[in-house]
Amino acid sequence: MPELPEVEVLTRHLRPLLRGKTIHGVAVRRAKVLRPTSSREFRQTLLGTKFAGLSRRGKYLLFQLNGRAGTKGFKLLGHLGMTGRMFLARKQQPLPVHAAVVLDLGRENFIYEDTRYFGRLTLDVSAAEKLGPEPLSGDFQPATFARALKRFRQAIKFKLLDQTLVAGIGNIYASEVLFRARISPKRAANRLTPEQVKRLWRAIREVLAEAIQGGSTVPLNFGGNRSDELFYFGRAPEASDYYEEQLRVYDREGQPCLNCRQPIRRMTQATRSTFYCPHCQRG
Ligand SMILES: [Zn+2]
Repeated sequence: MPELPEVEVLTRHLRPLLRGKTIHGVAVRRAKVLRPTSSREFRQTLLGTKFAGLSRRGKYLLFQLNGRAGTKGFKLLGHLGMTGRMFLARKQQPLPVHAAVVLDLGRENFIYEDTRYFGRLTLDVSAAEKLGPEPLSGDFQPATFARALKRFRQAIKFKLLDQTLVAGIGNIYASEVLFRARISPKRAANRLTPEQVKRLWRAIREVLAEAIQGGSTVPLNFGGNRSDELFYFGRAPEASDYYEEQLRVYDREGQPCLNCRQPIRRMTQATRSTFYCPHCQRG
């Protein structure tokens, strides 16, 4: 499931490809992903407009579009959900079975594909407005973060998933960040010492920045010999090169900790798996 780093890598990849492209046609094949926007409103708003920019907020993509002559510009919010992919493909390429939305850009199509349709492509951008600070920006400050954590008694692992506290961290990077900060995932958020909060703040920024760096150095061509420009997450064994996140604890249950060689453990917190080293993360 894509989190901040994967969405950032995708944003950087798509931005130059989309800039200046006009939307000549809009095909909505699965209206669910537009909610609460209707297919009709979506089509009418987008037709004839032009991509002007693309940014990321938390795990959301924010597409900036220039309105048609005399109309105002607007934003489109994208979210990959569990299985979403957004990419450009040449017109003559057959559409994937689970293409949810297809935008005709002339010689190419912009395709939002989603096998489970949990993602979004919508005119309703309110979800991005409710987010907490962007962790890699100056808005994310240790003092404010410490004050926010004081309000919660829940386990710190659980609170890291709260997008109003800090935006963009999901289940994978929550485990990674706590391992880097040497903090127990079970520790109550309001019981962290000032020193631990500072370590956690630093770990969040380092882990996310390194993951972006890692993902950005690999060309987004993971389809063997086909240069299909698809963005794949995790391992694609049949591919000649692929972007695999450099994870230190996530999904490594029973394998030796990279610091102390003790086995990594898995536990369930609020129905989701947490991976940690009981020896290194005692604080
Ligand atoms: Zn360890």
